[in-house]
Amino acid sequence: MTVKDKHIVVIGAARSGIAAALLLKRQGASVFVSDFGGIKEEFKNELQAKHISFEEHGHTEKASEGEFMVLSPGVPTEAPIVQSYLNEGKKVYSEIEVASWFTNDRVVAITGSNGKTTVTNWIGHTWKQTTKNFTVGGNIGTAFSEVADQVMDNRDVILEISSFQLDHIHSFHPNISVILNITPDHLDRYGNDFDSYAAAKFRITEYQNTDDWFIFNYDDPTIKAFVEKLQDSNKHPKLWSFSNQQEVPEGAFVRNNDIIFKFNNKEETLMPVNEVGLNGRHNLNNGLATALAARAAEIKNDAIRESLRSFMGVEHRLENVRVLDGVKYINDSKATNVNAVWFALDSIHVPMTLIIGGRDKGNDYTEIVDLIKEKVHTIIAIGESQNRIEEQLGQAAPIFKKANDMAEAVRMARKGAKKGEVVLLSPACSSFDMFDDYEHRGRVFKDEVHKL
Ligand code: ADP
Repeated sequence: MTVKDKHIVVIGAARSGIAAALLLKRQGASVFVSDFGGIKEEFKNELQAKHISFEEHGHTEKASEGEFMVLSPGVPTEAPIVQSYLNEGKKVYSEIEVASWFTNDRVVAITGSNGKTTVTNWIGHTWKQTTKNFTVGGNIGTAFSEVADQVMDNRDVILEISSFQLDHIHSFHPNISVILNITPDHLDRYGNDFDSYAAAKFRITEYQNTDDWFIFNYDDPTIKAFVEKLQDSNKHPKLWSFSNQQEVPEGAFVRNNDIIFKFNNKEETLMPVNEVGLNGRHNLNNGLATALAARAAEIKNDAIRESLRSFMGVEHRLENVRVLDGVKYINDSKATNVNAVWFALDSIHVPMTLIIGGRDKGNDYTEIVDLIKEKVHTIIAIGESQNRIEEQLGQAAPIFKKANDMAEAVRMARKGAKKGEVVLLSPACSSFDMFDDYEHRGRVFKDEVHKL
């Protein structure tokens, strides 16, 4: 798609919107940026430096004048400005769609409800074991638009993709796409409809062709049902799946504690499960997904093995903070939904104190009642959702307490924890009631743990 001399409006001036505006400008378009809220000073400076005009604190007529619109992932499709374009029959493109017009690189794209950042980084770590050129970005770090038009020989671009970024794609097709799992999250942006949230995630494979790969979780019933339908069409990408519970037709699975690859009906033993560096069933899945993406990119098994052994994980995801008096403190601040907490509890095999709570997104905490009954002796609830958690989990553990802030929660946890146990921060909620973001929450937890 050529954009030269086209007039294009970018709605939403956060990192990826700004990156799209700059990319379009580099490609010779006339660009206007409009944001309903304020725009950060550093972003305004970047736009001014490239002579891109913009407005903030609302959309004027100018926001309606684009030949088409580029929509930042933070802006919902229901926003009136988006609707007005659609009603006029004008195209609305997401930032990754636009970026994809300007790259010839191989693209590896990872989506799912949980584990995206872990797997994206793990895939990057795998590429590091090779001599391949690669860039990691998307939803994390560098926006796709920042790097799409860089010219680099034989580079692979590894992208974390959220469902919002998939909402307005019209041709974006990763050479290798991965869906890790689909569980309820962000339903508020999809009219509380799980099917439309799932459909957004499946769009990652919509434009893939038969030379591409689609790597998916064989144990996830929503994904499995989708793939069964996909198989009925005669034009689908190569389907590789992973499972830690059962053998798969093509892909990676576990048998007798070994990771097995199976391609074209031939099996290869990759390595023993217990050599994988990260613990927990979910991380085994993440490792299998990583291994398959690497294999699709023709990375040698030796490099894959090395990567699975040496990857240390990502900060704020079941991160070991400290062992004090024989008690291990674990920071899982990124667990912003109930499913992530389920996997955290599942992966730990000693008695626990659980610090949970924050801003509730309509959570159903009863999904973790069984694991709490089995493993948690003390629940310490923090933040806005304290009462809701008390209603749903108050009886699940022998001791239920409320803390006013993280410092109090950590001190309470220390009092009740015995040698050999774990104190886990895994909030199931967003952090905005008490903190700037989940990273801030995790850092405060770690600081308080180090103060003990
Ligand atoms: P995302 O980028 O999709 O939010 P992260 O890698 O940041 O995923 O992990 C978010 C949370 O989910 C963390 O608490 C992490 O321990 C947990 N998690 C990671 N991988 C999985 C998985 N495959 N299934 C369920 N939970 C996971």
